[in-house]
Amino acid sequence: MRAASDFHAVVVGGGPGGLMAAEVLASAGMHVTVVEHMPSVGRKLLLAGRSGLNLTHGEPIDRVLTRYTSDRPELLHAAVRAFGPDEVRAWSNGLGEPTFVGTSGRVFPRSLRATPLLRAWLARLAGVGVVAQTRTRWLGWASGPDGRADPRTVVVQRADGRRDELPADVVVLALGGASWPRVGSDGGWVEVLRAAGVAVRDLLPSNCGFVVPWSPPFAERHVGTPLKNVELRLGPHGPSARGDVMITAQGLEGGPVYTLSSAVRDAIARDGSAVVHVDLHPDLAVTELAVRLRRRRPKDSLSSTLKRTLGLSPAAVAWCREVLPGPLPTDPDELAALLKAVPVRVRSTTAIARAISSAGGVALDEVDDSFMLVRMPGTFVAGEMLDWDAPTGGYLLQATFSTAVAAARGALRWIERQ
Ligand SMILES: Cc1cc2nc3c(=O)[nH]c(=O)nc-3n(C[C@H](O)[C@H](O)[C@H](O)COP(=O)(O)OP(=O)(O)OC[C@H]3O[C@@H](n4cnc5c(N)ncnc54)[C@H](O)[C@@H]3O)c2cc1C
Repeated sequence: MRAASDFHAVVVGGGPGGLMAAEVLASAGMHVTVVEHMPSVGRKLLLAGRSGLNLTHGEPIDRVLTRYTSDRPELLHAAVRAFGPDEVRAWSNGLGEPTFVGTSGRVFPRSLRATPLLRAWLARLAGVGVVAQTRTRWLGWASGPDGRADPRTVVVQRADGRRDELPADVVVLALGGASWPRVGSDGGWVEVLRAAGVAVRDLLPSNCGFVVPWSPPFAERHVGTPLKNVELRLGPHGPSARGDVMITAQGLEGGPVYTLSSAVRDAIARDGSAVVHVDLHPDLAVTELAVRLRRRRPKDSLSSTLKRTLGLSPAAVAWCREVLPGPLPTDPDELAALLKAVPVRVRSTTAIARAISSAGGVALDEVDDSFMLVRMPGTFVAGEMLDWDAPTGGYLLQATFSTAVAAARGALRWIERQ
């Protein structure tokens, strides 16, 4: 019987999904080559670490599972249960980056950044013999004698334009989505897989901003300022989310915007636009707001009343004036009701190139219970290129790691059966 060390795995994509799959396969003794078309691996992970890296979330596992949307929840849930938040935290700890749970429940590595974690991870991978071939682009599979794609031979293109064929006993594809293509994930794989007969849902922006056109004077003064602790709602029965929203040159960004973004994106596709209501004071009932607004002093302007009685920032007041068609009402009850639900019409979300993640990808009914492509025996798929979606907060990396571990373990079992 052949040992694991007699087998060669090619992992395509050097993001967190690919590197995790490489670790599992190489730790079991396989020869592993990671193919990455950028000059270095883990570029999106490093980008994610710039604003405080959330590796996973600290809430109980059953709650974590409710954050994911997919067509095959049982498949995704089994993967997340098998390698869940505790395992991710232990893994990070093992790389010299103990984790802590922030006030929001998000789990951060001690340094908050990805750089030390990635450095330690790459050293560990080198230690178990993983070889990274960077500046090498995966193009697909060679044609077999019957003219169909041969799952055991992947075709790559080197930086000098040369094409090579790499033999592989197993392949793990972890090519990511299509957000932030300048760090590598450009979605170029979609057409390759479709040509091989694999169903791939269109990649769409997820966890993205809302485009809202600002007048030049408003943009000049308020871009870069937050609307602190507001609550966003989409329709009476749609999702809602609370937190800080950032006014950006393009419109609005930030946690609550990202949480609503998939629903808003779908509403725009259906109806042409969506109206999001913003509660500028979610901690106070409308009646209490009206009581406070009645304390307006005769000499106070409306802006200073809003600041003095409700603590609204100048940016929040200016933002209300910017998004509302007419002047602010002066009647306290009317104004209070408006401040609890300022309507913002959104006609588009920001482009996928600026989104935190992508929805869509390889349809989950194209893979078996071990994430192997049914049409390509021996080829496994992991990470964001699979069709699942989740909000920000550590859930994206969590599912990336979980599906990568599941795919790599599936690959090991498959090899054992050969
Ligand atoms: C700004 C930002 C902040 C984020 N912050 C967080 C966070 O704090 N917490 C969280 O959970 N998630 C976060 N995310 C999301 C998270 O980074 C991704 O979900 C995760 O990186 C997906 O991992 P992956 O391995 O599936 O794909 P990727 O990380 O995209 O890796 C795919 C790799 O494949 C390579 N590749 C693509 N095509 C080819 C090809 N043809 N040939 C060879 N190589 C190829 C790419 O260059 C890339 O290295 C953030 C994302 C962004 C953009």
